[in-house]
Amino acid sequence: MKKSAFDIESQQENLTSKVVVGLERISEVFKALLWDQAKATGLSPIQIQILVFVTYHKPELCKVSYLAQEFNVTKPTISDAVRVLLLKGLVEKKDAGQDSRSYIIGLTESGHQIVTGIEQFAAPVSSQVEKMSAEQLSSIYKSLADLIYQLNRSGVLSVQRTCYLCNFYENQEDGHYCHFLKQKLMETEIRIDCPEFESKPS
Ligand code: SF4
Repeated sequence: MKKSAFDIESQQENLTSKVVVGLERISEVFKALLWDQAKATGLSPIQIQILVFVTYHKPELCKVSYLAQEFNVTKPTISDAVRVLLLKGLVEKKDAGQDSRSYIIGLTESGHQIVTGIEQFAAPVSSQVEKMSAEQLSSIYKSLADLIYQLNRSGVLSVQRTCYLCNFYENQEDGHYCHFLKQKLMETEIRIDCPEFESKPS
């Protein structure tokens, strides 16, 4: 059987394992920062994630079913979190148009105010990343974008809004091209959460 990346002996001789363990450590950082913010605000981590997501994404994505996929949790988990946010007056339900079984989650004025503070939960990570050189940033970004794409292709990461999966993207002989922006994209211009993203027809 293949050795686990967490096998501390074999890990030392295997760069793949070290990268996997490194990514796991970084995922722990985000969990810890979210929990710190949760304790400070009396919100749960998933409630914070919903508030931040709703702030920056178009209304058609701000639905229970989409949020469940985005955060890899069940629809009842999102519904419960939204119910508490409604009680706290931080979000409101908006009509989803033709779909009467669904609703769009929008922020109230109080919701907008609280997001200004809680969205800073990742600032300790940003302040370290800012210290990297342009070459380091470019290299790490390309690796991350590729990894996210591969994890989506293999079914591990369900929802993505990256160029590689977008209807407007074309991999041309001389590089990447966006038919929405009508321009070539350098490696660092590839987006991993694009507001103009449109899924390829299945
Ligand atoms: S619309 Fe956005 S996600 Fe799609 S190819 Fe253009 S930049 Fe990339």
